[in-house]
Amino acid sequence: MQIPAPFDYARAASVDEAVALLARYGEDARLIAGGHSLLPMMKLRLARPEWLIDINALDELDFIRRDGNRLRIGALTRHRTLLDSDEVRALFPIITDAERVVADPVVRNRGTIGGSLCQADPAEDLSTVCTVLGAEAVIHGANGDRVIGMEDFHRGPYETAVEFDEMLTEVRLPIRERSSSAYEKVERRVGDWAVAAAGAGVTLAEDGTIADIAIGLTAVGVETRVADAEAVLRGRHPSDELIAQAGQAAARAAEPLADQRGSEEYKRHLADALTQRVVRRSIARIQTTGA
Ligand SMILES: Cc1cc2nc3c(=O)[nH]c(=O)nc-3n(C[C@H](O)[C@H](O)[C@H](O)COP(=O)(O)OP(=O)(O)OC[C@H]3O[C@@H](n4cnc5c(N)ncnc54)[C@H](O)[C@@H]3O)c2cc1C
Repeated sequence: MQIPAPFDYARAASVDEAVALLARYGEDARLIAGGHSLLPMMKLRLARPEWLIDINALDELDFIRRDGNRLRIGALTRHRTLLDSDEVRALFPIITDAERVVADPVVRNRGTIGGSLCQADPAEDLSTVCTVLGAEAVIHGANGDRVIGMEDFHRGPYETAVEFDEMLTEVRLPIRERSSSAYEKVERRVGDWAVAAAGAGVTLAEDGTIADIAIGLTAVGVETRVADAEAVLRGRHPSDELIAQAGQAAARAAEPLADQRGSEEYKRHLADALTQRVVRRSIARIQTTGA
């Protein structure tokens, strides 16, 4: 049986208390939300925090709220809540696509968007989703809030811009007209991490050209948007040929590692095929719903 190293435990009653506890116990403390990433790491002794600061009582961080032309999602919002939200499905179907394939119901019932983004696992699905959607992260510390884009939030695998005495409190997603999005993932079996996955967000102009596009990849060594694939399509009328070229550009951008989930060649093939699918599906969704 895997048993974590000994630790002390505190349950925060407010965001400010959580941040104060983090500041008091320093780098030896970690927040715990759903615990589905942190506890396995503690059991394997890959993480050995001396203090766990439990934020599960912070109901004020569990919300999905429309605020003008953006959707605000609290950091403690569970995968299950995101999956079940009609508003999320209507505005950002990429989130619903991704949440259907994040782990299994047990993990989705407790795991949170905040924990997912802060864990920053390269195979984690919501980081790609939030990058594609142009999300902003609200980070709270002793001096108040700071708001940064996903390109600054992610510092690399398992690293984010959240300092040891700060916490992520909210994710903000811009709502755009004539826009939609999609996510597709290939996994070895239901509930597994991605072999590879792709996400796209597309905005169409009145004349049917692609006014803006964002493409992201999961688990193939690409942490930013795939600019070369986007450039193929931006400002153009989408066609089979251009979408195929975008897929090829995504495959070239991928830097996958061969492992038990597949060879480099197979993962590059998936980057190509999945990019094409999510671009097509995003466009079809705009044309169907006029989103
Ligand atoms: C069997 C299994 C399969 C999984 N499969 C997938 C999958 O296919 N796709 C996928 O994307 N994920 C998958 N996951 C991960 C799952 O989505 C986790 O729930 C998620 O990664 C972490 O969320 P959590 O709330 O459980 O975070 P926790 O484990 O509580 O925390 C993770 C990290 O984030 C920090 N943290 C948490 N909340 C905050 C905050 N608000 N501010 C600052 N730091 C914070 C913690 O200190 C910790 O370092 C899987 C997990 C398991 C156990």
